[in-house]
Amino acid sequence: MVTVEELFAIPALLSEEEREIRDTVARFARQRLRPHIAEWFEAGTFPARELAPELGRLGLLGMHLDGYGCAGASATAYGLACQELEAVDSGVRSMVSVQGSLAMTAIHKYGSEEQKQQWLPGMAAGELLGCFGLTEPDFGSNPGGMRTRAVRDGDDWVLDGSKMWITNGSVADVAVVWAYADEGGDRPRVRGFLVPAGTPGFTAREMRHKLSLRASLTAELSLDGVRLPADAVLPGSRGLSSPLACLSEARFGIVFGALGAARDCLAAAIDYARTREVFDKPLAAYQLTQAKLADMALELGKGQLLALHLGRLKDRGEITAEQISTGKLNSTREAIAIARECRTILGANGISLDYPVLRHANNLESVLTYEGTAEVHQLVIGKALTDADAFR
Ligand SMILES: Cc1cc2nc3c(=O)[nH]c(=O)nc-3n(C[C@H](O)[C@H](O)[C@H](O)COP(=O)(O)OP(=O)(O)OC[C@H]3O[C@@H](n4cnc5c(N)ncnc54)[C@H](O)[C@@H]3O)c2cc1C
Repeated sequence: MVTVEELFAIPALLSEEEREIRDTVARFARQRLRPHIAEWFEAGTFPARELAPELGRLGLLGMHLDGYGCAGASATAYGLACQELEAVDSGVRSMVSVQGSLAMTAIHKYGSEEQKQQWLPGMAAGELLGCFGLTEPDFGSNPGGMRTRAVRDGDDWVLDGSKMWITNGSVADVAVVWAYADEGGDRPRVRGFLVPAGTPGFTAREMRHKLSLRASLTAELSLDGVRLPADAVLPGSRGLSSPLACLSEARFGIVFGALGAARDCLAAAIDYARTREVFDKPLAAYQLTQAKLADMALELGKGQLLALHLGRLKDRGEITAEQISTGKLNSTREAIAIARECRTILGANGISLDYPVLRHANNLESVLTYEGTAEVHQLVIGKALTDADAFR
């Protein structure tokens, strides 16, 4: 028997260091996360605080960033780590993505030296948690419509507004909040603000009743006359392109990550099909089953090759936003299709938390939607192909 990776000779494309990182994260995921994941998912919880220092010790928080206690790993190595985490659950990878690719990246890219020194080492170590508040109740795909405002009052800033669907929001020590800042110019522009937990007027309420990403903490943030000092603004943030650049980083992790969930589903389906007997022989020995498995293996392997190609481009500093969109759309769309197809192979057992497939499929509904929905990425690719902007 060969794995999909072996079928596509993928390990041969990785350096020794990349294989080591992948194997280290896989071991941690197998020993520390996998035994508990079904229980966390069922309870709708995630021990982010408890796990963050362990993830920090492995160098997974802000892994691709340089300095300030961050690992400074390659983009490809970061992608491979995301894949191993998401093979356990998209919720785990989401926690790591939001901490490193969104909150820490925003501070690293746009923060002052003091802000970087204050927050990044603790965040890299997993002692401090961050979240990234861009989406609002009425504005997700179109964040430029956001209503959250920051106005000056003397030297201070005063923020009002609300943010929704914010991963890690209820446990974060610091929220990176995006708001239109009125700075006395012609038009307010989007800027990032660092809002420490406990600031008067700032509350984070956990969102319940999710049927997807249950092993992930998601919150609604309220900002009601939140007064911040002048130096709370991220000085390098200038316009909507600033949060969008952070999203591009997180999307890149998803290109690899979603395929981890698909890989786990396929492994579970193959394992099940080899032992489950129907009409007196193993399910795996039926042509219909093999056709499903072969087709899924092709999509998974092609997705892995595309992810690696994009990783190499990113490491050379050559990747474009459209290329990241291409990978995000392909990985999430194929991963959810694979998860659903694997579910059919497991029959009724496929709907049980005793197996990972429907948990992954449900999680992938969120992964398909956040960091730019599948439709938004189709529009990005469509615009690149035609030069015609079909967003409006
Ligand atoms: C579990 C979870 C965690 C999240 N974590 C975060 C977080 O940490 N921080 C954060 O800021 N946000 C977060 N989000 C929010 C996420 O980024 C948004 O849900 C996403 O951007 C989509 O926005 P929306 O839900 O408002 O959908 P909408 O923008 O209302 O879209 C609804 C539908 O319309 C489609 N659509 C939109 N525009 C067009 C168009 N021009 N043409 C055709 N179709 C269109 C969309 O593709 C979608 O199918 C999270 C979401 C989830 C589910």
